Amino acid sequence: MRSFVPSEGYSEVTDMPVRKELGTALVNGGAGFLGSHLCERLLQRGHRVICLDNFSTGRRVNVDHLASNARFQLVEHDVRQPFDIEASLIFNFASPASPPDYQRDPVGTLLTNVLGAVNTLDCARKTGAVVVQSSTSEVYGDPNQSPQQESYCGNVNPIGPRACYDEGKRSAETLFFDYHRTYGVDIKVGRIFNTYGPRMRLDDGRVVSNFIVQALRNADLTIYGDGQQTRSFCYVDDLVEGFLRFSAAGDACHGPINLGNPAEITVRRLAEIVRDLTNSRSQIVHLPAVTDDPRQRRPDISRAMADLGWQPCIGLETGLARTVDYFDGLLAGAEKAEAV
Ligand code: NAD
Ligand code: UDP
Repeated sequence: MRSFVPSEGYSEVTDMPVRKELGTALVNGGAGFLGSHLCERLLQRGHRVICLDNFSTGRRVNVDHLASNARFQLVEHDVRQPFDIEASLIFNFASPASPPDYQRDPVGTLLTNVLGAVNTLDCARKTGAVVVQSSTSEVYGDPNQSPQQESYCGNVNPIGPRACYDEGKRSAETLFFDYHRTYGVDIKVGRIFNTYGPRMRLDDGRVVSNFIVQALRNADLTIYGDGQQTRSFCYVDDLVEGFLRFSAAGDACHGPINLGNPAEITVRRLAEIVRDLTNSRSQIVHLPAVTDDPRQRRPDISRAMADLGWQPCIGLETGLARTVDYFDGLLAGAEKAEAV
Protein backbone atom coordinates (compact mmCIF):
# COMPACT_ATOMS: atom_id res chain seq x y z
CA MET A 1 0.00 0.00 0.00
CA ARG A 2 1.18 3.50 -0.77
CA SER A 3 2.15 5.51 2.30
CA PHE A 4 2.08 9.26 2.74
CA VAL A 5 4.59 11.57 4.39
CA PRO A 6 2.85 13.65 7.04
CA SER A 7 3.29 17.35 6.36
CA GLU A 8 4.04 20.04 8.90
CA GLY A 9 1.63 22.33 7.08
CA TYR A 10 -2.00 22.94 7.91
CA SER A 11 -4.77 23.21 5.36
CA GLU A 12 -6.99 26.26 4.98
CA VAL A 13 -10.14 24.47 5.96
CA THR A 14 -9.06 22.28 8.85
CA ASP A 15 -6.49 22.57 11.57
CA MET A 16 -5.42 18.96 11.01
CA PRO A 17 -1.99 18.35 9.52
CA VAL A 18 -2.30 17.65 5.79
CA ARG A 19 -0.32 15.23 3.67
CA LYS A 20 2.56 16.76 1.70
CA GLU A 21 1.48 15.18 -1.56
CA LEU A 22 -2.13 16.06 -2.10
CA GLY A 23 -2.85 13.56 -4.82
CA THR A 24 -6.03 12.73 -6.64
CA ALA A 25 -9.14 12.10 -4.59
CA LEU A 26 -11.94 10.08 -6.17
CA VAL A 27 -15.41 10.76 -4.74
CA ASN A 28 -18.01 8.15 -5.69
CA GLY A 29 -21.43 9.77 -5.32
CA GLY A 30 -19.75 13.18 -5.53
CA ALA A 31 -22.76 14.88 -7.16
CA GLY A 32 -24.98 14.05 -4.18
CA PHE A 33 -25.70 16.12 -1.09
CA LEU A 34 -22.72 15.07 1.06
CA GLY A 35 -20.43 14.15 -1.84
CA SER A 36 -20.64 17.62 -3.40
CA HIS A 37 -19.60 19.30 -0.14
CA LEU A 38 -16.76 16.81 0.16
CA CYS A 39 -15.56 17.53 -3.42
CA GLU A 40 -15.58 21.24 -2.62
CA ARG A 41 -13.54 20.85 0.56
CA LEU A 42 -11.04 18.46 -1.08
CA LEU A 43 -10.43 21.01 -3.85
CA GLN A 44 -9.94 23.76 -1.25
CA ARG A 45 -7.48 21.48 0.48
CA GLY A 46 -5.37 21.13 -2.68
CA HIS A 47 -6.45 17.78 -4.11
CA ARG A 48 -7.25 17.00 -7.69
CA VAL A 49 -10.82 15.68 -7.49
CA ILE A 50 -12.62 13.16 -9.68
CA CYS A 51 -16.33 13.06 -8.99
CA LEU A 52 -17.94 9.79 -10.14
CA ASP A 53 -21.73 9.58 -10.18
CA ASN A 54 -24.64 8.06 -12.06
CA PHE A 55 -26.93 10.99 -11.12
CA SER A 56 -29.65 8.69 -9.77
CA THR A 57 -30.26 10.77 -6.62
CA GLY A 58 -27.55 13.40 -7.13
CA ARG A 59 -27.55 16.28 -9.59
CA ARG A 60 -25.03 17.96 -11.86
CA VAL A 61 -26.11 21.33 -10.47
CA ASN A 62 -24.54 20.37 -7.10
CA VAL A 63 -21.08 20.46 -8.69
CA ASP A 64 -21.65 23.00 -11.51
CA HIS A 65 -19.76 25.62 -9.51
CA LEU A 66 -16.69 23.34 -9.45
CA ALA A 67 -16.64 22.68 -13.20
CA SER A 68 -14.39 25.67 -14.00
CA ASN A 69 -11.69 24.39 -11.62
CA ALA A 70 -8.93 22.73 -13.64
CA ARG A 71 -8.38 20.22 -10.82
CA PHE A 72 -11.99 19.00 -10.99
CA GLN A 73 -13.31 16.26 -13.25
CA LEU A 74 -16.79 14.77 -13.50
CA VAL A 75 -17.21 11.15 -14.61
CA GLU A 76 -20.60 9.57 -15.27
CA HIS A 77 -20.44 5.97 -14.11
CA ASP A 78 -22.42 3.43 -12.09
CA VAL A 79 -20.40 1.89 -9.22
CA ARG A 80 -22.13 -1.44 -9.85
CA GLN A 81 -19.84 -1.69 -12.91
CA PRO A 82 -16.06 -2.04 -12.38
CA PHE A 83 -13.89 1.05 -12.81
CA ASP A 84 -10.19 1.72 -12.88
CA ILE A 85 -9.22 5.21 -11.78
CA GLU A 86 -5.80 6.28 -10.54
CA ALA A 87 -6.28 7.99 -7.17
CA SER A 88 -4.46 8.07 -3.85
CA LEU A 89 -7.64 8.62 -1.83
CA ILE A 90 -11.11 7.24 -2.53
CA PHE A 91 -14.36 8.15 -0.80
CA ASN A 92 -17.24 5.76 -1.50
CA PHE A 93 -20.38 7.86 -0.99
CA ALA A 94 -22.39 6.34 -3.85
CA SER A 95 -25.71 5.05 -2.54
CA PRO A 96 -29.21 6.39 -2.23
CA ALA A 97 -29.55 7.59 1.38
CA SER A 98 -33.10 8.82 1.91
CA PRO A 99 -35.58 6.04 2.85
CA PRO A 100 -37.99 6.83 -0.06
CA ASP A 101 -34.99 6.88 -2.45
CA TYR A 102 -33.46 3.60 -1.26
CA GLN A 103 -36.82 1.81 -1.03
CA ARG A 104 -37.83 2.82 -4.59
CA ASP A 105 -35.43 0.23 -6.07
CA PRO A 106 -34.46 -2.06 -3.17
CA VAL A 107 -32.56 -4.59 -5.28
CA GLY A 108 -30.64 -1.76 -6.96
CA THR A 109 -29.83 -0.29 -3.52
CA LEU A 110 -28.46 -3.54 -2.16
CA LEU A 111 -26.39 -4.13 -5.31
CA THR A 112 -25.09 -0.54 -5.31
CA ASN A 113 -23.79 -1.07 -1.79
CA VAL A 114 -22.37 -4.55 -2.30
CA LEU A 115 -21.03 -4.33 -5.88
CA GLY A 116 -20.10 -0.67 -5.32
CA ALA A 117 -17.96 -1.72 -2.34
CA VAL A 118 -16.31 -4.58 -4.29
CA ASN A 119 -15.53 -2.36 -7.31
CA THR A 120 -14.26 0.48 -5.10
CA LEU A 121 -12.06 -1.86 -3.07
CA ASP A 122 -10.70 -3.54 -6.23
CA CYS A 123 -9.80 -0.10 -7.58
CA ALA A 124 -8.06 0.79 -4.27
CA ARG A 125 -6.25 -2.54 -4.27
CA LYS A 126 -4.78 -1.83 -7.73
CA THR A 127 -3.74 1.76 -7.02
CA GLY A 128 -2.82 1.46 -3.34
CA ALA A 129 -5.29 4.20 -2.44
CA VAL A 130 -6.62 4.84 1.05
CA VAL A 131 -10.34 4.07 0.78
CA VAL A 132 -13.01 5.67 2.96
CA GLN A 133 -16.49 4.18 3.24
CA SER A 134 -19.61 6.18 4.07
CA SER A 135 -21.38 3.72 6.32
CA THR A 136 -24.39 4.61 8.41
CA SER A 137 -26.05 4.56 11.81
CA GLU A 138 -28.60 2.26 10.12
CA VAL A 139 -26.15 -0.59 10.72
CA TYR A 140 -27.47 -0.40 14.32
CA GLY A 141 -31.06 -0.84 13.06
CA ASP A 142 -33.64 -0.13 15.79
CA PRO A 143 -31.08 -0.04 18.59
CA ASN A 144 -31.58 -1.54 22.02
CA GLN A 145 -28.62 0.45 23.30
CA SER A 146 -28.32 4.23 23.55
CA PRO A 147 -26.14 6.06 22.79
CA GLN A 148 -24.83 3.67 20.13
CA GLN A 149 -21.18 2.72 20.51
CA GLU A 150 -19.21 1.23 17.62
CA SER A 151 -18.97 -2.09 19.50
CA TYR A 152 -22.77 -2.49 19.40
CA CYS A 153 -23.71 -5.05 16.72
CA GLY A 154 -27.18 -3.68 16.12
CA ASN A 155 -30.74 -4.86 15.75
CA VAL A 156 -31.61 -5.01 12.05
CA ASN A 157 -34.62 -6.76 10.54
CA PRO A 158 -33.00 -8.54 7.57
CA ILE A 159 -36.26 -8.95 5.62
CA GLY A 160 -37.95 -5.59 6.20
CA PRO A 161 -38.26 -2.63 3.80
CA ARG A 162 -35.13 -0.92 5.23
CA ALA A 163 -32.97 -4.05 4.90
CA CYS A 164 -31.85 -3.30 1.31
CA TYR A 165 -30.00 -0.30 2.72
CA ASP A 166 -29.10 -1.53 6.21
CA GLU A 167 -27.87 -4.95 5.11
CA GLY A 168 -26.22 -3.44 2.01
CA LYS A 169 -24.22 -1.12 4.27
CA ARG A 170 -23.46 -3.92 6.73
CA SER A 171 -22.21 -6.15 3.88
CA ALA A 172 -20.12 -3.27 2.59
CA GLU A 173 -18.49 -2.94 6.03
CA THR A 174 -17.76 -6.69 5.96
CA LEU A 175 -16.15 -6.36 2.52
CA PHE A 176 -14.07 -3.38 3.65
CA PHE A 177 -12.68 -5.24 6.67
CA ASP A 178 -12.13 -8.46 4.68
CA TYR A 179 -10.22 -6.59 1.95
CA HIS A 180 -8.14 -5.03 4.70
CA ARG A 181 -7.38 -8.34 6.45
CA THR A 182 -6.96 -10.36 3.25
CA TYR A 183 -5.24 -7.92 0.87
CA GLY A 184 -3.94 -5.19 3.19
CA VAL A 185 -6.10 -2.45 1.66
CA ASP A 186 -5.91 0.73 3.76
CA ILE A 187 -9.57 1.19 4.70
CA LYS A 188 -11.50 3.69 6.82
CA VAL A 189 -15.14 3.09 7.73
CA GLY A 190 -17.17 6.05 9.03
CA ARG A 191 -20.73 5.55 10.31
CA ILE A 192 -22.72 8.67 9.49
CA PHE A 193 -25.65 9.73 11.69
CA ASN A 194 -28.46 11.89 10.24
CA THR A 195 -26.80 14.79 8.46
CA TYR A 196 -28.58 17.75 6.87
CA GLY A 197 -27.82 21.03 5.12
CA PRO A 198 -27.83 22.90 1.82
CA ARG A 199 -28.03 20.82 -1.40
CA MET A 200 -30.52 18.30 -0.06
CA ARG A 201 -33.21 17.98 -2.72
CA LEU A 202 -36.63 19.61 -2.27
CA ASP A 203 -38.19 16.15 -2.76
CA ASP A 204 -35.48 14.21 -0.91
CA GLY A 205 -38.06 12.86 1.57
CA ARG A 206 -35.88 13.02 4.68
CA VAL A 207 -37.30 14.72 7.73
CA VAL A 208 -35.27 17.94 7.78
CA SER A 209 -35.87 18.81 4.13
CA ASN A 210 -39.54 17.72 4.35
CA PHE A 211 -40.26 19.88 7.42
CA ILE A 212 -38.43 22.95 6.10
CA VAL A 213 -40.06 22.82 2.65
CA GLN A 214 -43.49 22.16 4.20
CA ALA A 215 -43.02 25.05 6.65
CA LEU A 216 -41.88 27.48 3.97
CA ARG A 217 -44.99 26.58 1.94
CA ASN A 218 -47.25 26.85 5.04
CA ALA A 219 -48.26 23.24 4.35
CA ASP A 220 -48.85 20.59 7.03
CA LEU A 221 -45.71 19.28 8.75
CA THR A 222 -46.05 15.50 8.44
CA ILE A 223 -44.91 13.47 11.45
CA TYR A 224 -44.81 9.72 10.83
CA GLY A 225 -46.10 7.98 13.96
CA ASP A 226 -46.27 9.64 17.38
CA GLY A 227 -43.20 11.85 16.88
CA GLN A 228 -41.55 10.52 20.03
CA GLN A 229 -38.87 8.72 18.01
CA THR A 230 -35.51 10.48 18.30
CA ARG A 231 -32.67 11.41 15.97
CA SER A 232 -29.45 13.41 16.43
CA PHE A 233 -28.85 15.85 13.59
CA CYS A 234 -25.42 16.86 12.33
CA TYR A 235 -24.75 19.85 10.07
CA VAL A 236 -23.01 18.95 6.81
CA ASP A 237 -19.86 21.09 7.39
CA ASP A 238 -19.17 19.30 10.68
CA LEU A 239 -19.61 15.91 9.05
CA VAL A 240 -17.26 16.70 6.16
CA GLU A 241 -14.65 17.99 8.61
CA GLY A 242 -14.89 14.64 10.44
CA PHE A 243 -14.34 12.71 7.19
CA LEU A 244 -11.36 14.89 6.22
CA ARG A 245 -9.75 14.23 9.58
CA PHE A 246 -10.49 10.52 9.31
CA SER A 247 -8.98 10.32 5.81
CA ALA A 248 -5.80 11.98 7.11
CA ALA A 249 -5.57 9.78 10.22
CA GLY A 250 -2.74 7.26 10.42
CA ASP A 251 -2.45 3.77 8.94
CA ALA A 252 -3.69 2.19 12.19
CA CYS A 253 -7.01 4.08 12.21
CA HIS A 254 -9.59 2.04 10.30
CA GLY A 255 -12.71 2.52 12.39
CA PRO A 256 -15.54 1.92 12.37
CA ILE A 257 -16.01 5.42 13.74
CA ASN A 258 -19.33 7.10 14.49
CA LEU A 259 -19.57 10.56 12.91
CA GLY A 260 -22.57 12.57 14.00
CA ASN A 261 -23.89 15.10 16.46
CA PRO A 262 -24.86 13.57 19.82
CA ALA A 263 -27.57 16.20 20.53
CA GLU A 264 -30.69 14.02 20.46
CA ILE A 265 -34.22 15.36 19.96
CA THR A 266 -37.66 13.95 19.17
CA VAL A 267 -39.11 14.34 15.70
CA ARG A 268 -42.00 16.26 17.30
CA ARG A 269 -39.57 18.81 18.79
CA LEU A 270 -37.81 19.16 15.44
CA ALA A 271 -41.14 20.02 13.80
CA GLU A 272 -41.78 22.73 16.41
CA ILE A 273 -38.28 24.21 16.01
CA VAL A 274 -38.59 24.35 12.22
CA ARG A 275 -42.04 25.92 12.43
CA ASP A 276 -40.76 28.59 14.83
CA LEU A 277 -37.61 29.30 12.79
CA THR A 278 -39.64 29.87 9.62
CA ASN A 279 -42.51 31.79 11.30
CA SER A 280 -44.75 29.36 9.47
CA ARG A 281 -48.54 29.01 9.69
CA SER A 282 -48.20 25.23 9.16
CA GLN A 283 -50.13 22.73 11.29
CA ILE A 284 -48.33 19.69 12.66
CA VAL A 285 -50.14 16.50 11.63
CA HIS A 286 -49.54 12.81 12.29
CA LEU A 287 -49.44 10.16 9.57
CA PRO A 288 -49.06 6.39 10.10
CA ALA A 289 -45.67 5.26 11.39
CA VAL A 290 -43.30 3.71 8.86
CA THR A 291 -42.27 0.04 9.20
CA ASP A 292 -39.12 -0.68 11.22
CA ASP A 293 -38.55 3.04 11.95
CA PRO A 294 -35.79 3.19 14.62
CA ARG A 295 -37.24 4.51 17.90
CA GLN A 296 -34.04 6.15 19.10
CA ARG A 297 -30.72 7.18 17.62
CA ARG A 298 -27.79 8.97 19.18
CA PRO A 299 -24.08 8.48 18.44
CA ASP A 300 -21.45 7.89 21.07
CA ILE A 301 -18.62 9.93 19.55
CA SER A 302 -15.91 9.20 22.15
CA ARG A 303 -13.86 7.34 19.54
CA ALA A 304 -13.99 10.21 17.03
CA MET A 305 -13.04 12.68 19.77
CA ALA A 306 -10.09 10.54 20.90
CA ASP A 307 -8.78 9.37 17.50
CA LEU A 308 -9.57 12.39 15.31
CA GLY A 309 -9.81 15.24 17.83
CA TRP A 310 -13.21 15.89 16.25
CA GLN A 311 -16.61 16.88 17.50
CA PRO A 312 -19.38 18.85 15.82
CA CYS A 313 -19.43 22.58 16.52
CA ILE A 314 -22.53 23.79 14.66
CA GLY A 315 -25.68 23.69 16.79
CA LEU A 316 -29.07 22.62 15.46
CA GLU A 317 -30.64 26.09 15.29
CA THR A 318 -27.64 27.56 13.44
CA GLY A 319 -27.52 24.66 10.98
CA LEU A 320 -31.27 24.73 10.45
CA ALA A 321 -31.23 28.50 9.84
CA ARG A 322 -28.60 28.03 7.10
CA THR A 323 -30.64 25.21 5.59
CA VAL A 324 -33.83 27.29 5.71
CA ASP A 325 -32.00 30.08 3.80
CA TYR A 326 -30.95 27.55 1.19
CA PHE A 327 -34.45 26.15 0.64
CA ASP A 328 -35.94 29.65 0.72
CA GLY A 329 -33.69 30.58 -2.22
CA LEU A 330 -34.48 27.35 -4.03
CA LEU A 331 -38.25 27.83 -3.66
CA ALA A 332 -38.06 31.48 -4.73
CA GLY A 333 -36.12 30.39 -7.83
CA ALA A 334 -38.64 27.62 -8.57
CA GLU A 335 -41.59 30.02 -8.20
CA LYS A 336 -39.89 32.59 -10.45
CA ALA A 337 -39.29 29.90 -13.09
CA GLU A 338 -42.99 28.85 -12.91
CA ALA A 339 -44.11 32.48 -13.36
CA VAL A 340 -42.11 32.91 -16.60
P1 NAD B 1 -27.46 11.50 -1.90
O1 NAD B 1 -28.56 10.64 -2.41
O2 NAD B 1 -27.62 12.98 -2.03
O3 NAD B 1 -26.08 11.13 -2.58
C1 NAD B 1 -25.78 9.86 -3.07
C2 NAD B 1 -25.03 10.02 -4.39
O4 NAD B 1 -24.66 8.73 -4.88
C3 NAD B 1 -25.91 10.66 -5.49
O5 NAD B 1 -25.18 11.64 -6.17
C4 NAD B 1 -26.27 9.50 -6.40
O6 NAD B 1 -26.54 9.89 -7.73
C5 NAD B 1 -25.01 8.64 -6.27
N1 NAD B 1 -25.27 7.23 -6.57
C6 NAD B 1 -26.25 6.44 -6.09
N2 NAD B 1 -26.16 5.21 -6.63
C7 NAD B 1 -25.08 5.22 -7.47
C8 NAD B 1 -24.48 4.26 -8.30
N3 NAD B 1 -24.98 3.02 -8.41
N4 NAD B 1 -23.39 4.61 -9.01
C9 NAD B 1 -22.88 5.86 -8.94
N5 NAD B 1 -23.42 6.83 -8.15
C10 NAD B 1 -24.50 6.51 -7.43
O7 NAD B 1 -27.25 11.08 -0.38
P2 NAD B 1 -26.26 11.66 0.73
O8 NAD B 1 -27.06 12.04 1.91
O9 NAD B 1 -25.33 12.64 0.14
O10 NAD B 1 -25.47 10.33 1.12
C11 NAD B 1 -24.16 10.07 0.66
C12 NAD B 1 -23.61 8.82 1.33
O11 NAD B 1 -23.60 8.99 2.75
C13 NAD B 1 -24.47 7.58 1.05
O12 NAD B 1 -23.62 6.47 0.88
C14 NAD B 1 -25.27 7.41 2.32
O13 NAD B 1 -25.61 6.06 2.56
C15 NAD B 1 -24.31 7.93 3.37
N6 NAD B 1 -25.04 8.40 4.56
C16 NAD B 1 -25.67 9.61 4.55
C17 NAD B 1 -26.36 10.02 5.68
C18 NAD B 1 -27.03 11.37 5.77
O14 NAD B 1 -27.64 11.66 6.79
N7 NAD B 1 -26.96 12.24 4.79
C19 NAD B 1 -26.44 9.18 6.80
C20 NAD B 1 -25.81 7.94 6.75
C21 NAD B 1 -25.09 7.57 5.63
N1 UDP C 1 -40.11 11.52 9.43
C1 UDP C 1 -41.27 12.20 9.69
N2 UDP C 1 -41.80 12.97 8.72
C2 UDP C 1 -41.24 13.12 7.49
C3 UDP C 1 -40.03 12.41 7.22
C4 UDP C 1 -39.51 11.61 8.20
O1 UDP C 1 -41.82 12.13 10.79
O2 UDP C 1 -41.79 13.87 6.66
C5 UDP C 1 -39.49 10.73 10.51
C6 UDP C 1 -39.10 9.31 10.12
O3 UDP C 1 -40.22 8.44 10.29
C7 UDP C 1 -37.99 9.04 11.11
C8 UDP C 1 -37.32 10.41 11.28
O4 UDP C 1 -38.28 11.36 10.86
O5 UDP C 1 -38.51 8.65 12.35
C9 UDP C 1 -36.05 10.57 10.44
O6 UDP C 1 -36.39 10.22 9.11
P1 UDP C 1 -35.39 10.40 7.89
O7 UDP C 1 -36.08 9.82 6.69
O8 UDP C 1 -34.93 11.81 7.80
O9 UDP C 1 -34.10 9.56 8.27
P2 UDP C 1 -33.88 8.10 8.89
O10 UDP C 1 -35.20 7.45 9.15
O11 UDP C 1 -33.11 7.39 7.83
O12 UDP C 1 -33.13 8.35 10.13
